[in-house]
Amino acid sequence: MSGMEQKYIEEAFQSNWIAPLGPNVDAFEKELAEYVGVKGALAVSSGTAAIHLALNLLGVGVGDKVFCSTLTFIASANPILYQGAEPVFIDSEPETWNMSPEALERALEDAYTANHLPKAVIVVNLYGQSSKMDEIVSICDSYNVPIIEDAAESLGATYRGKQSGTFGKFGVYSFNGNKIITTSGGGMLVSDDAEAIEKARFLATQARDPAPHYQHSVMGYNYRLSNLLAGVGRAQLQVLPERIEKRKVISELYRLLLGELPGVQFLPELDGLISNHWLTVMTLNEEEAGVSVDQLIQALHEEHIESRPVWKPLHLQPLFANTDYYSHQDHVHIAEQLFHTGICLPSGSSLSTEDQLRVIRCIRDQFERSYEIKDMSLLKEYEV
Ligand SMILES: *Cc1c(COP(=O)(O)O)cnc(C)c1O
Repeated sequence: MSGMEQKYIEEAFQSNWIAPLGPNVDAFEKELAEYVGVKGALAVSSGTAAIHLALNLLGVGVGDKVFCSTLTFIASANPILYQGAEPVFIDSEPETWNMSPEALERALEDAYTANHLPKAVIVVNLYGQSSKMDEIVSICDSYNVPIIEDAAESLGATYRGKQSGTFGKFGVYSFNGNKIITTSGGGMLVSDDAEAIEKARFLATQARDPAPHYQHSVMGYNYRLSNLLAGVGRAQLQVLPERIEKRKVISELYRLLLGELPGVQFLPELDGLISNHWLTVMTLNEEEAGVSVDQLIQALHEEHIESRPVWKPLHLQPLFANTDYYSHQDHVHIAEQLFHTGICLPSGSSLSTEDQLRVIRCIRDQFERSYEIKDMSLLKEYEV
């Protein structure tokens, strides 16, 4: 928390706007819409709820197919099941670790031939970095398939100057406790189609028809964000640029002090893509490194430092056994490679340089030879 959250919560208490909805909700939606540059935004109880509403609005139902990135958190795909539809998983490509345009193109060609195009494509921007949106948008446009951009992890990142989450028909953000800004739990659905956002608002508020009595013609949901939590969100949005800056510094320090170790690599950063550096993730070539991913995670654990593998690809999840999946290329499975070689490093905005150096030292100690830090002057920048 930044400290400013209290002010908005206090206002809500003072004005007795504890009930769901209220002025903070309206203001949070407006402020986020302005920040990312979209016409409409709807604050909801979670990112998952936002994805669910987007699928609903696109008419996804029983028997429909929805394409989805395979390297992601389960929340990207669960709403496909809520709608009774069937996911098809698309592999990553090595440059952004996000959806492979090559695999997407093959999957769409096959679906077109089978006369069963997907109702939507859910593109996920992992670890704070945008997907190759130019390619993906142009492929989806050529088949007239709408995009839902799952930007739960990438709020504030940009692709060629445009905000992550604003490329598809719908964009989704999450304010879960682990995200770059948080309301403890919450999400936002955004779109340039203001009418669609109004429809989502209706569905998210129990689909109550405009009548003085309680009247309902379609099934709805209770998905709105509370006025208290929206107050937290407003204060958090103000510190988003600071958070991005802090996480960039964290990422740079890891890259500087671990990047030279044998077998260690980091998520590449492509020209024109600015990440929010939500998480810094390294990959390990175990042969070159002479140490395994499990050994590194275990060594960190012994120092009471939490690290984690990369998301387990959804096509490998028991829940999705026998689900269709398109690899990046024949016999080239990028998401699986990343799952086996990746380690998510501690990256929270409140991580002190001192603590980060503990993490770095612990990792360096696992390598057989000790590698001296070459350019000490670089360290001065970080006040190490
Ligand atoms: C966190 C996350 C979500 C879900 O957001 P919630 O607010 O937790 O429901 C969806 N997709 C991705 C990629 C996420 O990381």
